[in-house]
This record gives sequence, C-alpha cells and structure tokens, in this order.
Amino acid sequence: INKIGVLTSGGDAPGMNAAIRGVTRYAIEKGLEVTGIIRGYEGLLSHEIMPLNRRSVGAIIHRGGTMLRTARCLEFLEEETQKKAADYIREQEMDALVVIGGDGSMRGAQALSRLGIPTIVIPGTIDNDMGGTEYTVGFDTAVNTVLESVNKIRDTAFSHDRVAVIEVMGRHAGFIALYAGMAAGAEAVLVPEHEVSLEDLCTHLNESHRMKKMSSIVIVAEGAAKGADVVDYIKGHTYLEPTLTVLGYVQRGGSPSAKDAIMASLFAEKAIDSLLAGTYNCVIGQIGERIVATPYTEAERLHFPLDENMYRLVLALGR
Ligand code: ATP
Repeated sequence: INKIGVLTSGGDAPGMNAAIRGVTRYAIEKGLEVTGIIRGYEGLLSHEIMPLNRRSVGAIIHRGGTMLRTARCLEFLEEETQKKAADYIREQEMDALVVIGGDGSMRGAQALSRLGIPTIVIPGTIDNDMGGTEYTVGFDTAVNTVLESVNKIRDTAFSHDRVAVIEVMGRHAGFIALYAGMAAGAEAVLVPEHEVSLEDLCTHLNESHRMKKMSSIVIVAEGAAKGADVVDYIKGHTYLEPTLTVLGYVQRGGSPSAKDAIMASLFAEKAIDSLLAGTYNCVIGQIGERIVATPYTEAERLHFPLDENMYRLVLALGR
C-alpha cells in the first residue's frame, strides 16, 4: 500500500487527536502518504479531505475533541451510500482506511470492507463497550473527569447530610459508572449489567444512614436508569434528601489522560503495522497485556464483561 485515509466517527473521545497524530506520523515514517477525511463517513460523501503531514498533526496530542471533526451519518447505513464512499476512496487512490471510533463506526468500516476496501478500526469511545478489546481510547479520561466532579459534589453533599445521585454516560454499558464509583468511593452504582432494584438501593441507603453515614454518593449509568427517576424513588421511599447531577457532555471533553494518549499512540502503531503486514478488516485492541488485531467477525463475539468482583467491592466498601 502507498496511501491511507484516516477519519474519526461517532461520538468524540479524548485521545482521538493523539490517535490521528500517531497514525499520521507512524505511517509517514513507514513511507506512506496520509489523507485526512473531515467529519467521518460524511466527508467521504461530501468529498472533504485534506493531505496530512507531520506538521499538520502538530500540537494536537493534548487536545480534546478531534481535529478531523466527527459526525453521525445516518445515510451511511444504506448500501448505495456505502458504494459511493467506496468509489470515492478508490478514486482518491487510498489503499486502506483507518477509522477511529466506536461500535457503530466499526460497523461502517465493516460495510466498506465488504465492498473491497481494506479498513482497520482504532477503538475510540469513552464508553469502553467495544468487542475485540478490553480498552477503548477516551475511557480513562472520562473516568477521571467523572471522579473530579464527584469529589466536588461529595464536598457539598457531606456538608448537607445528603444523598447525591450522579448520572453518568456509558450508553448500554456500566464501565464509566463502575470505575468512577470505585475510585470515588461511591455507596452504590447502578449499571445496566445488573438488574436495578431501587427498593434494594433504598434499603441499603437507610441501613447506611442508621450506621451514621453522613452522606452517600450513588452513581447511575445512563443505560441503567434515569437519574431523575432514582431521585424520585428515594424521595418517595426514604426520609433522605437526594440531589441530582446529570454530568452530560463534560465527560466527552478535556485533554486526554496520560493513559489515553499512550494507548492512542500504541493502537496507531499497531494499526499501521497490521496494514503493512497485509492484515486488515480488523479492530485493534488491548487483550491482557497485548495489543492485537482481531477480525471484525470475531470481535463481534468477543466482548469483555464488567468485573463482577469490582461491582461487589464497591457495595462492600461504600457503607
Ligand atoms: P460512540 O460509541 O462514541 O457513540 P459510535 O461509533 O458507536 O461511537 P455511532 O453513531 O453508533 O457512534 O456510529 C457512527 C457512525 O457509523 C454512524 O453515524 C454511521 O455513519 C456509521 N454506522 C453506524 N452503524 C452502521 C452500520 N450498521 N452500517 C454502516 N455504517 C454504520
């Protein structure tokens, strides 16, 4: 291969810029040309591209968001649209495409690969919910952002003898809630991987209150319940005074943590090395201590579940 394209797609995540930089510079190091595609799959349809060199990806490693911008492109679900994109990639003489994004973006890459375009995916989403990897770029930064906010909320909850309910992102997964909950010393976490019983939660909170606990932090994953419903239920079934914070988009922003910038760079290296070795239609990932490339079809079946022990430990340590 001589020339590759790179794009970011789906929700943005801290570390996407570090991945763009890694892909671009490592590919150039290996003698490849690199084209950046603006606004994800959308850019393949509107023909928004830019050549990338070492300098054009300078001073972005520490920035949140993505310099290539991103988009959700619903049209791309249709095969006719995918064919147009594939034709454009061929026209531009890109021999392969690196997609940085989440699960949906991976399905887009898989669609292109079915049309004969070699693609490779670098997992970039704060949710940590992709097949073929135990880690997705952006997760660590999001957990740290949540932790920082929870610590601030805890200060005021403690002063007022309150229950603070905090709703966090994660789509259908509870990773952000569980990890932030553990790090912040939450009293309970509600995650979609476990059946949510608000009755049990209230029993738990009442018991802690009887044990003279001054304040409680409850972290709710968006995929498990609505924070507002949890607050209403606690109000209706206890004498406690719950407050609600929905953290929202702050979790997607900010400079990547050291871990995310490092993982983005290592994933980028593996992506380019794989393409050069003729391995494509794969998602790059971390499995155990190794960075690996797993074919899309296998990755779909290779999901790493939430750590059960960690879930139990949060509850045990929280009261
Ligand atoms: P995040 O997890 O951060 O939200 P994501 O990559 O899962 O990221 P999506 O919005 O699900 O975000 O997907 C991004 C884009 O990928 C979509 O807007 C669409 O263009 C493309 N895409 C998603 N699913 C498919 C599919 N089944 N076939 C083809 N393209 C798809």
